[in-house]
Amino acid sequence: MSRVDKEFDRYFSAMDRAGGQDRCYLCRRAPAEVKAFFGFDEDGHPTKAQEFGIEDVVLEEADIMSYRGIRPICAVCQLNLDAIFMLDEEAQLKAVLNEMRDEREKLWPDSDRPPQQD
Ligand SMILES: [Zn+2]
Repeated sequence: MSRVDKEFDRYFSAMDRAGGQDRCYLCRRAPAEVKAFFGFDEDGHPTKAQEFGIEDVVLEEADIMSYRGIRPICAVCQLNLDAIFMLDEEAQLKAVLNEMRDEREKLWPDSDRPPQQD
């Protein structure tokens, strides 16, 4: 299988696992939103190329989303978690997740709560 075929295969396998959603499992960003976050347009060209003199820089599709794991993840979340792991804060990460799951009322004022669904 060629490199391109392998990437396609990874992509479609990941879409199957993610129920067809081409979004980061953690932050729900779509690939275009990840590119925009890093300052690139849909085609992978820097949006402020003139300003920064980086006309030759092109973002590769493979640089912004990973489809190799259990769920698609974006480069923004990978970098954020790299930093958390580098600071040896895995325990705090788990504590934050537990807090978000179990103590939502403590974290958000009533007025910020999404409308109740019946
Ligand atoms: Zn993400």
